[in-house]
Amino acid sequence: MRHRIVLEGVVQGVGFRPFVKKLADRFGLNGITFNNSSGVIIEIDTHDPAEVRHFADAIRTQAPAAALIETCSIHEIPQDAAYTGFRIAPSAARDTTFTLISPDLATCPDCAAELYNPADRRFGYAFTNCTNCGPRYSITRSTPYDRANTTMALFPMCANCAAEYVDAEDRRFHAEPVACPVCGPRLSMPIAEAIALIASGKILGLKGLGGFQLACDARCALAVDELRLRKRRSRKPFAVMMRDLATVARFCQIDDAERALLTSPAAPVVLLPMRHDAVFPDGVAPGLRQIGVMLPYTPLHRLLFDGPVDCMVMTSGNMSEEPIVIHNDEAQTKLSPLADSILTHNRDIFMRVDDSVARVFEGIPRINRRARGYAPSAIRLAHEVPEVLAVGAELKNTFCITKGRYAIPSQHIGDLENLETLTFFEETLRNLESVYQANPRLIVHDLHPDYLGTRWALRQPGPKLAVQHHYAHIASSMAENGLTEKVIGVAFDGTGFGTDAQIWGGEFLVCDYHGFERSAHLRYAALPGGDRAAKQGWRMAASHLHDALGPDARKIGLPCWYAAPAASWKIVDHLIAKPTIYTSSCGRLFDAVSSIAGISAESGYEGESAMLLEAAAQKSSAPDHYEMTIENDIIDTRPLIRAIASDMRAGRDANDIARAFHRSVAVMIERVCQHIREATRIDRVCLSGGTFQNQTLLADTLALLRASGFQPYLHAQVPPNDGGISLGQAVIGASWLAAQSARH
Ligand code: ZN
Ligand code: ZN
Ligand code: FE
Repeated sequence: MRHRIVLEGVVQGVGFRPFVKKLADRFGLNGITFNNSSGVIIEIDTHDPAEVRHFADAIRTQAPAAALIETCSIHEIPQDAAYTGFRIAPSAARDTTFTLISPDLATCPDCAAELYNPADRRFGYAFTNCTNCGPRYSITRSTPYDRANTTMALFPMCANCAAEYVDAEDRRFHAEPVACPVCGPRLSMPIAEAIALIASGKILGLKGLGGFQLACDARCALAVDELRLRKRRSRKPFAVMMRDLATVARFCQIDDAERALLTSPAAPVVLLPMRHDAVFPDGVAPGLRQIGVMLPYTPLHRLLFDGPVDCMVMTSGNMSEEPIVIHNDEAQTKLSPLADSILTHNRDIFMRVDDSVARVFEGIPRINRRARGYAPSAIRLAHEVPEVLAVGAELKNTFCITKGRYAIPSQHIGDLENLETLTFFEETLRNLESVYQANPRLIVHDLHPDYLGTRWALRQPGPKLAVQHHYAHIASSMAENGLTEKVIGVAFDGTGFGTDAQIWGGEFLVCDYHGFERSAHLRYAALPGGDRAAKQGWRMAASHLHDALGPDARKIGLPCWYAAPAASWKIVDHLIAKPTIYTSSCGRLFDAVSSIAGISAESGYEGESAMLLEAAAQKSSAPDHYEMTIENDIIDTRPLIRAIASDMRAGRDANDIARAFHRSVAVMIERVCQHIREATRIDRVCLSGGTFQNQTLLADTLALLRASGFQPYLHAQVPPNDGGISLGQAVIGASWLAAQSARH
């Protein structure tokens, strides 16, 4: 009897077939394995179905680290001539379905061992890789994933590499980017020179995996400040690459789940709390108690640590706000003013992929920026959907295409605010549409008429659909949590265009993929100065104080009144007295409180004032909270603001105010959810929006919701911030399209 096992997911380019062969040999099975366009197929001749199930279980539990098995099905099929032994057969011809492309993978332990072994022919070789690790998405020009379709096509294999490539027993069997010092890519300067440069406090530009990077000694304050100055990067924290886990443990508090995430094939930047005794120059992460840490994820990065420096700032090679540089000539013109020297090489980067950022919360890795190591892997949906393209939001843009049962979000593109970023968006879209043979029948965009993404979408032919920002946030959470029934959505963030043309951001929705109802929201406050109010929290402080206390607010001596010159106040007072636009944004409420409490009056980067407010709250153990009242589905923030102003006047510690404020928001969320549950009987609550990157708020909110019997759902695979919007837009668009075609 012949049994066929079909495995779908990320199972190609990750050493899967050699693994299957080894396992089959151990089980003593006769059969074959091969790739087809939907994944990996295994055929086994046996009369014992239990043996097949047993074998399939072993595949699932022992699969290579980089593999991601989405589905595994077993069928009985007719048997012709019996198989003898177990072999790897050539791939089946392509059909119209598609295979997922593997993301780029961090150096595996076997390759790392070769890198440091003087007897190995790849000793010290910066481009060592195998089927378990190395570049994938960043070098793939087209599918199928073969060397000829990657940027490695320019490097004919030497006899040794070719022998490894065809040997089914070898770790490099069909490793498309396989290379060695004889036949492979080369560095532009000796590695020792680069090491010495960093050790002397200089800034090195280097060609990483998905783009150029800028590196310097993270423990040298002068170097860090110089890098910040040259990059014109205000106070936004830098990520730090550390030599190994032992080094990370010297500077950060770290648990097993965080260790596993740091050393995973995706090897993202992981946000970790700094140890109390850790000494870092303040320029690395100004004012924050957490730091973004990653481990060396390519052989080149590992080699850079063969010197005295064990912590390096590792930041994307670009001027702030522009996409990361990938071409050698571009690096010469754009990075020369930023770096003292540039270490490059001759393996081309085809797709730009920045470093990913993640954190562990409640033991689960959660992605804040989804790029290298994750993109372009897919999110499996609850059912098959029509093909659509969703162009995402303005800030932290990603787009998303749907195909069969999958949603494929692009890597992090950046803020769609300039032509360079829009070009990056278009290049990536062209690439992903071609490798996944996507043919979208609908383009979904944000409701905001002025977003570059909206304008781009409206220039394209074919049908379009506008989706409200916060609705997309919640749909994104539903999609990745596999929810299809109605949910209560709590969408808290900085900014999103509302259906009433005001700026939303403190929203309670009841929704499914077919539509939403705005059940409750934060009381509208004047937004004095539009985008400027987002950067200058003192403007929102004035707006909320005026709303809560009227003109009397100016008589209370609060730090926010000293944050701006008299000339600015004149304009702001006017804008507050005669508002042209209102906001219900929770992000802006955080900014206001941060400013009223004297913690931060201006954000040097998006969300800074709120992050500093959280950092302050973490220093306090105050047990209380402030009240907000709820009437007619409007959450009144005025009692909260009055109480905070009066606490400030009474000289209460700002950290305690910050702590109590966080709890106030959580208490309010739980109470509003209770109201909604009474009316709808829904107890599933999706928490989404950039505000929920705040760990303190998240922990407070979850504790209260769970205690009241709610089922809260969080993000993990896509970011809670606007990087997750495209997934939500895509599933809403796909449902709309399905409903349309059902009607006709
Ligand atoms: Zn490897
Ligand atoms: Zn070679
Ligand atoms: Fe948002």
